[in-house]
Amino acid sequence: MAKWPYGTSEWKALRQAKLQASPLCEPCDKRGRIVCANTVDHRVSIAKGGPAFPSLSGLMSMCPACHNAKTRAVDRPGGSGVAFPGCDASGLPVDPSHPFFGGPAKGYTPSKDQPLRGQDRMGSRPRTKFRGGR
Ligand SMILES: [Zn+2]
Repeated sequence: MAKWPYGTSEWKALRQAKLQASPLCEPCDKRGRIVCANTVDHRVSIAKGGPAFPSLSGLMSMCPACHNAKTRAVDRPGGSGVAFPGCDASGLPVDPSHPFFGGPAKGYTPSKDQPLRGQDRMGSRPRTKFRGGR
């Protein structure tokens, strides 16, 4: 967490502003869950060329569970590319990184994005990926 830019006063002010503007976890909120956010995520990670200090719309308030899911699926190499399967009440994908919004499309096909898929995929992954994550 000490990695740039997270130790800078500019990031701390930006993070504070984002959490004040959006105090709830945004992915949880879209799925009808009210969860306090304590993490501010870059929608496009810095490693993928996103700005370190984007506008508030370039950031996402998240709870730790959602942040871990997004980091695993989207920000790390080899992830599925979709952190939050499913759609909100309006029919739009819950995941802001979903290819529908112009995000990474790597390996994503809607037919595989059914609720049971998560269990299948988890069972086929190495156990070490899940140790201590929750
Ligand atoms: Zn959440």
